[in-house]
Amino acid sequence: MAYETRNPYTGALLETFHDATDTEVQQALENAHAAFSLWREKEVVERAGVMRSAASILRRDADFFANLLTLEMGKLTHEAKAEVALSADIFDYYASNAETLLAPEKLKVADLNYGDAVLHAEPLGVLLAVEPWNFPFYQVARIAAPQLTAGNTILLKHASNVPQAAAAFEKLMLEAGLPKGAFKNLYATRSQVETIINDPRVQGVALTGSEGAGSVIAAQAGKALKKSTLELGGADAFVVLADADMEKTIHWAVVGRHWNGGQVCVSSKRMIIVDEVYDQFLEGYIAGVAKLKAGDPTDPATTLAPLSSEAAANEIKEKIRQAVSYGATAAEVGPKVPGLGAFVQPTILTNISEDNPARYWEFFGPVSMLFRAKDEADAVRIANDSPFGLGGSVFTANPKHGVDVAKKISTGMVFVNHPTMAKADLPFGGIGRSGYGRELIGLGIKEFVNHKLISVIDIDAPF
Ligand code: NAP
Repeated sequence: MAYETRNPYTGALLETFHDATDTEVQQALENAHAAFSLWREKEVVERAGVMRSAASILRRDADFFANLLTLEMGKLTHEAKAEVALSADIFDYYASNAETLLAPEKLKVADLNYGDAVLHAEPLGVLLAVEPWNFPFYQVARIAAPQLTAGNTILLKHASNVPQAAAAFEKLMLEAGLPKGAFKNLYATRSQVETIINDPRVQGVALTGSEGAGSVIAAQAGKALKKSTLELGGADAFVVLADADMEKTIHWAVVGRHWNGGQVCVSSKRMIIVDEVYDQFLEGYIAGVAKLKAGDPTDPATTLAPLSSEAAANEIKEKIRQAVSYGATAAEVGPKVPGLGAFVQPTILTNISEDNPARYWEFFGPVSMLFRAKDEADAVRIANDSPFGLGGSVFTANPKHGVDVAKKISTGMVFVNHPTMAKADLPFGGIGRSGYGRELIGLGIKEFVNHKLISVIDIDAPF
């Protein structure tokens, strides 16, 4: 894909960017490797100071950064500002917690009279981050803040439709005080990505994106015997039990499916409602979607953004068409979306039988799949009838019971009475075809470290 900024609301091509040259890629590898040897020697507290500074810059220039997100991928202005604030929170989280998270861990060994055994978290080296456009800053912060704090250095291959956000992130890290080369954005081609993964100086790759990209990158990493983490797609279940507060549940269903233009890995993509309240939910949901306002993402009154590109909009329209050709019923709902720009009319899909392949797809836009479940057990069965395992939610008046139901849902994250929750101090990640590994908190910072055991042993201890 060519690196370019194209406004998804107007369709205007604003700027194009050259692919990286092979020489630039080699230089970036050399610089990142050289920076690693300096950066890894810094005290954790010093690295944490750079993260603190990145958080301050993000907050200071929040409008500038937020505008870039709106310009390049059509994010609503208030959502763009929230994304920048969340990214700052992530940098702050690691600034505040790095020393504790990376502290050496003394192991409890049964027979300790011979000495001691301590686990040290040492950085691995240069990492490659391959990131998507749907949260151009938050996704990068999720990998940059923990991995840089741990002492690794990073080469970034960002999505081709957010080149300005990618460049701004590199500038941010330099201004925050990171050594030159420790975080480098590259407008890399796919073959250059493979070259980077194969380079002996590179120790691992973290990818957030689609299943297709995940399987290609993981295969390349596996062949090169490099560690990888994958944050892939999802088709989160939004389970509604009979005792749920229907008005509030419907509110969250509308938000959960339509925020960020419906382009969230943890969007509430499959609504599974028990029979008793299905009709009430459907009626309220249609009315709720009708209140959305599609339009200019910079207009504070807009609540439904365009998709990130016309190609993305066309892809989802084609997927709806295919779902219908396999037997599903599609009903267009909500306000009429503008004819120009990358808009997709909100659509509800019903009658999606088990032999309809679309039942197992991810719809990355304002398409809601609705399922009528016979009862709670059937709702759980439908929730788990998915190749994905990212997030999900359960709505009930009985949160304790909600937790019991949540335990039966096979995903990495389940929220009771909320569609999802993205916070700096909550982990993120899934299972199944949603990938492996975790980002954020202590789990994320330990994904690319050498858990090195150093054990001091009394020379006279028995073998
Ligand atoms: P995508 O097409 O897979 O792209 C993601 C990144 O991978 C982009 O930088 C893309 O570069 C790159 N890429 C794609 N194929 C590649 C290849 N063969 N070799 C090297 N790089 C490659 O995904 P997307 O459409 O941007 O993002 C949407 C997907 O990401 C959805 O499935 C969504 O659910 C998932 N997602 C998951 C999470 C999570 O945390 N689990 C979060 C956000 C999004 P180009 O742009 O140059 O193609």
